[in-house]
Amino acid sequence: MLAILKQAVELESPSDNKPAVDRCGQYLAAEFARLGGRVTLHPQTEAGDHLQAEFPGRSGAKPLLLLGHFDTVWPLGTLAGMPFRVDSGNGRVYGPGVLDMKAGIVMMMFALQALRAAHGDSEPHRPVTVLLDTDEEVGSVTGRPLVEAAARQCEAVLVLEPAQGMAGALKTARKGVGDYTVRVRGRAAHAGVDFEKGHSAIVELSRQVLEIAKFTDVSRGITVNPGVIQGGTRTNVVAAEAWVEVDIRIARAADAAGLQQKFAALHPFDPGCRLEVSGGLNRPPMERTEGTVRLFRAAQGLGNKLGMSLNEAATGGGSDGNFTSGLGIPTLDGLGGVGEGAHAVHESILLEELPRRTALLAGLIESL
Ligand SMILES: [Zn+2]
Repeated sequence: MLAILKQAVELESPSDNKPAVDRCGQYLAAEFARLGGRVTLHPQTEAGDHLQAEFPGRSGAKPLLLLGHFDTVWPLGTLAGMPFRVDSGNGRVYGPGVLDMKAGIVMMMFALQALRAAHGDSEPHRPVTVLLDTDEEVGSVTGRPLVEAAARQCEAVLVLEPAQGMAGALKTARKGVGDYTVRVRGRAAHAGVDFEKGHSAIVELSRQVLEIAKFTDVSRGITVNPGVIQGGTRTNVVAAEAWVEVDIRIARAADAAGLQQKFAALHPFDPGCRLEVSGGLNRPPMERTEGTVRLFRAAQGLGNKLGMSLNEAATGGGSDGNFTSGLGIPTLDGLGGVGEGAHAVHESILLEELPRRTALLAGLIESL
């Protein structure tokens, strides 16, 4: 497992670098083909080619979807300062994308291999579809249609994104994620010569940001974060333009429309300024449905037999599991590596959890 994980991590695959992502995809495709999968690479012009692999199972049964992504947030060359390494002192494996989520992909491979070794060619379990997209870290713009199409064919979805926390909790709920841009167009003027003729986009935007911040309702699981703000040109110019980019998270799908209305209802304080509001929900929330809870209970039961005590958790982060859950397909997330530091320099997994959670995944595929 470590040898393949090393190879997968060292084939760096930042979402925005197609040649690099495709090199990683070619390697993974060959590995899934070696395991007996029927592999399809879905060609893309900008993003890396998405990877799908079909594995046979008992005839007539709806397949299970093993879902993940092989793009990472790490730019090419990150390895130089953050190499793949195993620290035998603390039992961790480090490297860019090792937790999010190349360990999860390696787990898929070894679970499928274990099932094949146990059952030969007469698999009693459901057919398995593996779908790995290449733009998950940037919103799955091109991956989403494939993810949804695959999920519609499937009985349930198992997402191999990282587990929650060092105790390896499974994710049964995720917040929905979206973004808005609010742009103010004011009127420029010389700050000394004719200040009064100006309408400052910066002053207007500052007031709008305070309004937007009020949309947050933590008790309902709604957060609204003005995360990036830009505007103006020079200190001696009344700013003609300024804008803010806002991240929104919602726990309930039903809250999307209300938030949309609030953004649409923003109006300028200064009648000399105009507002342009764009954006919306990108990923619907993954709500804790009955189907998801059933999957969690099955995993928990299997975990007990493997000496693991598995809990469930909700997270504010989104994944492709949001899309499949949004379609009403039972989805269990966080089945991948256990570790910490996703998107951070200390990104790492616990080595000893790798085989155990692979056994859990194999057992889950067998039992569903
Ligand atoms: Zn991820």
